[in-house]
Amino acid sequence: MKIPFYRPYIGDEEIAEVISAIQSNWLSKGPKTVVFESEFAKSVGSEHGVGLNSCTAGLHLAQLALGIGPGDEVITTPYTFVATANTIIHCGAKPVFVDIDPKTCNIDADLIEQAITPRTKAIIPVHYGGYPCEMDRIQEIAQRYGLAIIEDAAHAVYTKYKDQPIGSIGNITCFSFYATKNLTTGEGGMITTADEELANRIRILSLHGMSRNAWTRYAAKGAWYYEVEQAGFKYNMTDIQAALGIIQLRKLEEMQMLRMQVARAYSEALADCEEIILPHDSHEHRHSWHLYPIRLEEDQLTISRNEMIDQLSEAGIGTSVHFIPVPKHPFYQEKGYRMEEYPETEKVFESVLSLPFFPGMTKEEVYYVADTVQSIISKHRR
Ligand SMILES: *Cc1c(COP(=O)(O)O)cnc(C)c1O
Repeated sequence: MKIPFYRPYIGDEEIAEVISAIQSNWLSKGPKTVVFESEFAKSVGSEHGVGLNSCTAGLHLAQLALGIGPGDEVITTPYTFVATANTIIHCGAKPVFVDIDPKTCNIDADLIEQAITPRTKAIIPVHYGGYPCEMDRIQEIAQRYGLAIIEDAAHAVYTKYKDQPIGSIGNITCFSFYATKNLTTGEGGMITTADEELANRIRILSLHGMSRNAWTRYAAKGAWYYEVEQAGFKYNMTDIQAALGIIQLRKLEEMQMLRMQVARAYSEALADCEEIILPHDSHEHRHSWHLYPIRLEEDQLTISRNEMIDQLSEAGIGTSVHFIPVPKHPFYQEKGYRMEEYPETEKVFESVLSLPFFPGMTKEEVYYVADTVQSIISKHRR
């Protein structure tokens, strides 16, 4: 059997909507983007959505819109995709990494306060794998120190913290619609916010800094007129992307049910395997199940995580590692970051691997993966 790490869940409905976008002649940003922005924002309980070409663009513009720049510090987790930290660098600010809670692999809220300095401007929590960070604690800390919260919700479409959908909590939330994410537009992203002024600022920054207000202020000069108030970026979403997004959003509930079934099947099939730690879940929140990462209890095994990946690959099973901790990358090493400061992140990274996981994965596929994992483990018990 050959099982890829990920298989997209795209049907004829998406294809038809993309064709209709192309036939409408709106190839770039147009009416479908406007519809997707408002439907998506509503689905996460937020007032405003701004469609972008990636979550990375969202993280970048969110910080710029909040005035984050040189001399500022932004707190985040070392256990994330490098985009989270790179965007802090793009703003000229300094990423300050706070180690994770190994149970959830999210930023350890107990360690945030000691990382705050007079230069700290914001916290970027990342909801690892789709399980929410401790938002009550993080909000309380942010309020006390006057910090903004920008959520990296690349994994957290559909996630709820208690009863609150992710997208309705922080000052700005950044979603990813990258090919492998829970809801995809191929490439794409969106920010949601309750703050109209922030939404407008991000919209302008996403289109060269061109101000729409100019149209109304200088209506007499005609529809061709615009003004650039700052050097913006080219980060907008297109209607071809939005066409995919509109249909994917309608199918989200169905795709999430399929994800949950796969997660449950894995958890049942691997429950008796003492040498692996399964992903954390709790009834208090709603998990989006973006990933299914397992961890090896290495002191009970004679096989390393890397060898496990190789043996699974030989059995036709694709896996991945989420994530190589940001401070481990040469760019961050050269800036002086040291992994010794993030011992929990290091431990998790050494032992983690993500199993194949996607909506529509069959029971046979799940059992084949689970059986292969168990048979490798049974050959390598200490
Ligand atoms: C995928 C991902 C991003 C980047 O999303 P893009 O839409 O590809 O820019 C950011 N943060 C995390 C945690 C991710 O997994």
